[in-house]
Amino acid sequence: MSAQIISGTELAASIRETIATRAAELTTLGHKPGLAVVLVGDDPASRVYVRNKVSACEKAGFKSVMYEMPENTSQDALVGLVQQLNADPSIHGILVQLPLPKHLDSHVVIETISAAKDVDGFHISNAGLLMTGKPLFRPCTPYGVMKMLELTGIELRGAEAVVIGASNIVGKPQAMLLLQQGATVTLCNSKTKDLKSHCQRADILVVAVGRPNMITGDMIKPGAVVIDVGINRVDGKLCGDVDFDSAKEVAGWITPVPGGVGPMTITMLLQNTIEAVERSL
Ligand code: NAP
Repeated sequence: MSAQIISGTELAASIRETIATRAAELTTLGHKPGLAVVLVGDDPASRVYVRNKVSACEKAGFKSVMYEMPENTSQDALVGLVQQLNADPSIHGILVQLPLPKHLDSHVVIETISAAKDVDGFHISNAGLLMTGKPLFRPCTPYGVMKMLELTGIELRGAEAVVIGASNIVGKPQAMLLLQQGATVTLCNSKTKDLKSHCQRADILVVAVGRPNMITGDMIKPGAVVIDVGINRVDGKLCGDVDFDSAKEVAGWITPVPGGVGPMTITMLLQNTIEAVERSL
């Protein structure tokens, strides 16, 4: 039997409608949501991501400002811009697109962003709040995954959740969010022994590694919910970390790539910006 598809494209469209309505209400009250996106250098992939974020903001009726800085920007200049944005009351969210050029210290830059405007949720205060179960901003990708699970009606309490990949921006916060909803969580990394046996126990399997098609149908528990965060390009075509064709024959639910987690990530950036405005009132 073939798995049911969780369409990030459809869920994101519906959430964005609600966000646009709320943005219009806030604008009428004189609090138009404002997001500043900072891009340093000429990385083509970063440029595409930034353009998509700015365009999503504009469609939702937000004020959106993009700052483009040259590759040789100094640390002081970048920190100075972030401080200026921290002090700007028309800006509720600040996003510095990563990765930064090698001579810049991204840790220092992220820590300069006011925790109250850190809509990416990467600031150490926000990571700490998430860890202690009192999240302010949730990192957008794991937040999007949680929204997908919630809107699909997946029971998390008592479920065996396995997260593959333990980065600070996806895997670790994902594990925390699942744990807080009552799942029993296993977090795997590149040193995990016998990854297959961990996967086969999972009622909910979230894969965020960056290796095309590494999770195949034989690694999946029948009926499991499979969330594929990976974005890879093979022969010019996008694919995830899960081998969709074999996995969909075993899983109960599955997200496609493209059209799965990706559209949810930008949507949750908009959601975090709305939450920032509401908290500032
Ligand atoms: P990352 O920082 O490179 O982290 C990868 C993680 O995978 C690490 O924790 C690494 O383990 C682990 N790993 C590597 N090989 C493994 C293996 N064989 N078995 C188990 N774990 C393994 O990557 P990321 O930023 O989290 O991104 C992961 C993927 O998600 C990428 O494809 C990225 O493009 C995609 N992504 C998608 C979205 C979206 O919106 N859909 C957003 C963000 C990222 P160690 O810790 O031991 O090194």
